[in-house]
Amino acid sequence: MMRHFFRQPGRRLASIFAVLLFAMSAVMGSYVYSACQKASADYTTLISDIVLAQQATPQLRAALEEGSRLPSSEHIEYIEYFISLSKQHLNNIKSSIERHRYLISDVEYLNHHFSELNSRLSDLDQQAQEAQQRPERIDPLQSVAMEIGSAQSWLYNQLLEDVRDISVQQRLVMQRLSIAVSVLLVLMVSAAITLCLAVIYLHRQRNVMHQLMLTDELTGLYNRRHLVNVASAALTQAQRAQAPLSLLLLDLDHFKQINDTYGHPTGDEVLRQVSKQLRELSRPADTLARIGGEEFCLLMPNTATHDALQAADRLRREIEVNTLRGIDLHANPTISIGVTTCQNGSLTFEQLYSLADKALYQAKALGRNRVESVLPPNAPLPCSGPNAYAHTLIREPSDS
Ligand code: GH3
Ligand code: MG
Ligand code: MG
Repeated sequence: MMRHFFRQPGRRLASIFAVLLFAMSAVMGSYVYSACQKASADYTTLISDIVLAQQATPQLRAALEEGSRLPSSEHIEYIEYFISLSKQHLNNIKSSIERHRYLISDVEYLNHHFSELNSRLSDLDQQAQEAQQRPERIDPLQSVAMEIGSAQSWLYNQLLEDVRDISVQQRLVMQRLSIAVSVLLVLMVSAAITLCLAVIYLHRQRNVMHQLMLTDELTGLYNRRHLVNVASAALTQAQRAQAPLSLLLLDLDHFKQINDTYGHPTGDEVLRQVSKQLRELSRPADTLARIGGEEFCLLMPNTATHDALQAADRLRREIEVNTLRGIDLHANPTISIGVTTCQNGSLTFEQLYSLADKALYQAKALGRNRVESVLPPNAPLPCSGPNAYAHTLIREPSDS
């Protein structure tokens, strides 16, 4: 069933489009999602780094106060620990900023504040180490620590503000980007669906046109053009296989009277129903076509004269006895049939048609509602069996 679905070119194309679109949507969707996630995640880390650093500032001041109250080497180590913690926070923030390419240019003006703070913390560290030997030096460190604390507070507040501003701006940009991408996707999907529908519509139209080119509008049977094509191919095949091929020409008897008595629309309905019956009665391998107003042709490959005559008589009898539905005719329509056979595909379609036409003329001349045959020169006469039927077998005289 699936294989049948994909065999249609329009559907195959539509499926390829759908798969491509799905893949494209998935890639774009995941890109936008990850871009949004990335931007907000980076800022979150940076902001938490800054908040942590802000919290460390009062801790250093508290350690210094404690140290100057009870100067001891244990307290000085404690002070040194908070100085190195502050430096670590500073470095973390710096490297976090460097990792963020959108941020660097916006906070560049803070660079020298970072360097200055770093060197002041290094000095403080140096002084704390010296105070290990001379604890009375802890006191002056407090004023330095106060200055560093305010510088740190200012720097971190400023940075936090900048980062929040930039983060808001970037989130806005990402939102707009997402909207733009979504709109683009919707447009692309609509365009692709429209294209697919157009392809399917064109494909259907092409099939309809093709069908119209091959068939007769009133009866749905094949038309003369298609019959001629099929007959040429069948004759070539018959020649290759040295097989017989028969042609039947069928004509409704006194059809003009039906039109005149019951009207043209009824005549049309008679044509439709007789065509349907003929189609149902003929073999699938045979080609039935409407080649004129009330004239039909049945091409029978691999069929000898005897079988063709039998088939023709069966058609004739069935049409004669089958009543038409919904049409109240005083008598069932009848058909006359001309039969001919080409033994080995050596004739053209026109020659075959001409022989069948002669046979049909003969059937009309002999009273209608009958089957007659005209065979090509030197054709073997069909043997008559127990089912022999009444008709005149004519063999065309040889030219020689
Ligand atoms: P015969 O037994 O000799 O074949 O007589 P006939 O009346 O069947 O043949 P004739 O050639 O005199 O008339 C054929 C009629 O078929 C004339 C024409 O109006 C009618 N006809 C041709 N095409 C159509 C059609 O599509 N619809 C209808 N209703 N009539 C058609
Ligand atoms: Mg007729
Ligand atoms: Mg006719």
